[in-house]
Amino acid sequence: MEDIKLIVDGRRIDGRKPDELRNVKIEAGVLKRADGSCYIEMGNNKIVAAVYGPRSLHPKHLQNPNRVVVRYRYNMAPFSVDERKRPGPDRRSVEISKVSKEAFEPVIIKELFPRSSIDIFVEVLQADAGTRVAGINAASVALADAGIPMKGLVSAVAVGKVDGEIVLDLVKEEDNYGQADIPVATFIRAGKIEGITLLQMDGRVSKDELKKALELAKKGCMEIYRMQKEALINRCRGDEIVE
Ligand code: UDP
Repeated sequence: MEDIKLIVDGRRIDGRKPDELRNVKIEAGVLKRADGSCYIEMGNNKIVAAVYGPRSLHPKHLQNPNRVVVRYRYNMAPFSVDERKRPGPDRRSVEISKVSKEAFEPVIIKELFPRSSIDIFVEVLQADAGTRVAGINAASVALADAGIPMKGLVSAVAVGKVDGEIVLDLVKEEDNYGQADIPVATFIRAGKIEGITLLQMDGRVSKDELKKALELAKKGCMEIYRMQKEALINRCRGDEIVE
C-alpha cells in the first residue's frame, strides 16, 4: 500500500492542508438523564459522552476515603465502522479507556469528593480515525457540563506523518496508510497549555519530526479548546432561555 498517494499538490485526500483540522461541531448538554453530556463531530467521527456523578460508589470496597474514583468507558458501536465490530470490550477499548482516564488525571479536583465516583461513558457512533481524542474532547465538555470542579479543560487531537509530511487530525486512510499516528491530549487552563496528558505513537518519526508534530498538535488543541469553551457558553445561554 506504499504507493497510495495521500498528499497531492499540498492537499490531502479530503482537500485539507497539512495543518488543518476537520470540521468540528460540539454541543453540550444533549442528554436529559446524564449529569453532564456532550455530542461531538470531528470530521466523520460522531461521538456522545455522558457523565454521572459525583455519586456514592458501590460496592464500598471500591471507595477511596480521600478522593473521588474516576471511571472511563470508551465503547465503539458495532455499526460505527465499515466491518461490523463485535459488541463489548476488547483489548483496544480497554487500553483507550485507561489512557483516556489518565488524560484527566491532573485536571479533575479529586479531593473534594471522597468515597464517590465520577463515571464517564464515551460512545462512538461513527468512526473515522481519531476517536480516542474526539472522545476525550467530548468527555471534557461533558465533565464541565456536569459541574465537576476542574482546573481547566482537556483538549486533544491526533497528529501524524503522511507521505513524509507532518499532518494534523488524520482521517482513516491517513491513519491506515501513513507512517505515523500520534494522539495527543493537553491540559489547558485559562487559554494556556499547562501540559500534555496523553501521548501515544503508532509508527516511526525522527526526533525533529516529533517536535514538529507536537507543535502542530498544540496548535490543534488550542483551536479545539476554543470550540469546547464556545459549546459550554452556548449551553449556559440555553439554560438562561429555559429558566
Ligand atoms: N477501526 C475499525 N475497527 C475497529 C477499530 C478501529 O474500523 O475495530 C477504525 C476506526 O475508524 C478508528 C480507526 O480505525 O477510528 C483508527 O483506530 P485507532 O485504534 O487508531 O484509534 P483512534 O484513531 O480511533 O483513536
